[in-house]
Amino acid sequence: MRILLVEDERKVASFIARALKENTYAVDVVETGEKALEAGAEVAYDAILLDVRLPGLSGIEVCRELRQRGIESPVLMLTARGLVEQRVEGLDAGADDYLTKPFVLAELLARVRALVRRGFHTGNAKLHYADLALDRHRRRATRGQEVIPLTSKEFALLELFLLRAPELVTRSEIVEHVWDCHFDSETNLVEVYINRLRQKLDQNRSPKLIHTIRGVGYRLGMPE
Ligand code: CA
Repeated sequence: MRILLVEDERKVASFIARALKENTYAVDVVETGEKALEAGAEVAYDAILLDVRLPGLSGIEVCRELRQRGIESPVLMLTARGLVEQRVEGLDAGADDYLTKPFVLAELLARVRALVRRGFHTGNAKLHYADLALDRHRRRATRGQEVIPLTSKEFALLELFLLRAPELVTRSEIVEHVWDCHFDSETNLVEVYINRLRQKLDQNRSPKLIHTIRGVGYRLGMPE
């Protein structure tokens, strides 16, 4: 899942970004509202974390503008403590939720999880397909009774596949949701990760669940 973080305070931004990355999200950070509008137009983010106090356009103006442009990524507004009007204004501008600074990291992560789930219209902490299961809170994958250890990128990939299963996920959707803006789409990194995930999930097991749709992408589902 890919997140846009809009925060001009570098220390805060890198602290939040690091925590999100440790929790398997791909994160792009921008420091101004103007850059947030550009980024939001380019990528269908799974969530946008938007600080209210920014140089130039405020977070509230950015949110309103994103919505006016038809961008529907869920928005979590980061507001200053005690400013009730700011929260109301943020929600009126189209934010989905807000969090008051300073916040506890665990709460930020919980809000982000909820927001991303809402974006995908699935309230499930556990995703299933056939004998494969993914516990998104405990970050644990199992096939049958067997626990499958996954790296954070593999986890993010599998999560995307399961949210769509048994439908196709295109290569560009994978790049967009699992990697951040520093990803070089000319590399074969996606293929490398898919192969590793496939080995972990499908090797010596049947049915095989990950299938390549040549030239388009992949799907997780029963063999045809
Ligand atoms: Ca700020």
